[in-house]
Amino acid sequence: MKGYINIPESFKCKGCKLCGSAPIISLAEHGLYQLKCPNNDSHYQTNPGEIDIDDWNIHNTQLYDHDYDLKMISEG
Ligand SMILES: [Zn+2]
Repeated sequence: MKGYINIPESFKCKGCKLCGSAPIISLAEHGLYQLKCPNNDSHYQTNPGEIDIDDWNIHNTQLYDHDYDLKMISEG
């Protein structure tokens, strides 16, 4: 059984870096809540038990180009 809680607008949350969706608070395993992208479990999500908006924002900020990472994957 899964539960979702929308984040109050008073919190400054960035949208998901990959799809632009606002994150939700989701009930993960063992009754722990986590902050995650509502669209895709492979997009960034905080560790279960951590509703850490700062952590979410850091991981969803594009400080630099990811061409480097993509290149490594395609050449791997
Ligand atoms: Zn996403």
